[in-house]
Amino acid sequence: MPRYRTVRDIDVRDRRVLVRVDFNVPLREDGSVADDWRIEAALPTIRYLLDQSARIILASHLGRPTGDPEADRRLRMDAVARRLSQRLGQPVLKADDVIGPDARTKAGQLQPGGVLLLENLRFHPGEKAGDEQFARELAALADVYCNDAFGTCHRRDASMVAVPLQFPAGNRVAGLLLARELEILEQLTGEPQRPYVAVMGGAKVSDKVRVIRSLLQRVDKLLIGGAMVYTLRLARGLKVGASLVELDWIDEARRLLREAGDKLVLATDHVVAERPEPDAAIQVVEADFPDGWYGMDIGPATRARFAAIIREAGTAVWNGPMGKFEDEPFRAGTRAVAEAMAECQGVTVVGGGETAEAVRMFGLADRMTHVSTGGGAFLKYLEGGQLPALEVLDVA
Ligand code: ADP
Ligand code: MG
Repeated sequence: MPRYRTVRDIDVRDRRVLVRVDFNVPLREDGSVADDWRIEAALPTIRYLLDQSARIILASHLGRPTGDPEADRRLRMDAVARRLSQRLGQPVLKADDVIGPDARTKAGQLQPGGVLLLENLRFHPGEKAGDEQFARELAALADVYCNDAFGTCHRRDASMVAVPLQFPAGNRVAGLLLARELEILEQLTGEPQRPYVAVMGGAKVSDKVRVIRSLLQRVDKLLIGGAMVYTLRLARGLKVGASLVELDWIDEARRLLREAGDKLVLATDHVVAERPEPDAAIQVVEADFPDGWYGMDIGPATRARFAAIIREAGTAVWNGPMGKFEDEPFRAGTRAVAEAMAECQGVTVVGGGETAEAVRMFGLADRMTHVSTGGGAFLKYLEGGQLPALEVLDVA
């Protein structure tokens, strides 16, 4: 992985810098911002550019607009602009379109040290389509392109690939958040401190098979919990009751078990519930699950075993909750892994939408070396796959 030129490596004074950020924040029913950690994560780059007296044009997608203006009204960027303005302690202009007259006028009038947020990129069909004409018009708003949206780097959306290509080489740089993400992730694919431990969980084997295969080449231990462990148990011939399983993936699970050898450490005891609801009767089982019961979390013996391995790791990477942590009775496994990661003295990296959410819920995010802002992009990177948005950036 090359080192990319960052916003610190070029002169941005007075120049118009188009920063692709990831402000895809969760919203409340009333349209206000429910959680602003994605905004927070972009602040270092924005503050740096402000210090340099650049003219800052921010662009992001938000949610999944349908194309129906009435339904999409709640996905306008106004609430995000207000929250950003509060966090920065200075006004943030908001354009009512992406490449239309309002964006052009406001970008044109922007002063050094001014901040403009464009409307939701996905309001324009050109964004998802990777459209050239859209890319030209968006790029025409600025002199420099800066990618600070790691969480979107696995997508070929116009703002990630076609737009930077419109800028002359030397003017397509990485933001500080993106640079930090890549620096940390490189440690995971380069020469990590050993023992190198990976913890995988989450709902589906199918989502994670590629990353599991790739991690098995590199790690010393791979711990598996979450619902995906039930498909692996089934592949071993154990009964898993009514648990979430992917029958199409049994053969693949068998292959995986055969090839992985003793690197793979599967959860051995499980919290099972009579119904997949927080108020259902629960019990801990080791062997076959009772008929009709649902696996909901890893059990206490597995928690202790996983925690002991994680605490001793030189490097630990974790993706995927150990159970249905959203419900309190099924949270202990995920909490135990998060706490062990926090106690581990080695390099600790957490990635994935729900996993990062769990770590923040436990108030342990600051105790990790790094909590990635990427879900899909984080997994793609760990798989050893290409991130198309990186390939168009300047190499330092
Ligand atoms: P991430 O977004 O961190 O990559 P995933 O999307 O793979 O994680 O999986 C997260 C989801 O998996 C969580 O919403 C969690 O509730 C669910 N999950 C994990 N284990 C179980 C289980 N035993 N039963 C039901 N859901 C589970
Ligand atoms: Mg997820």
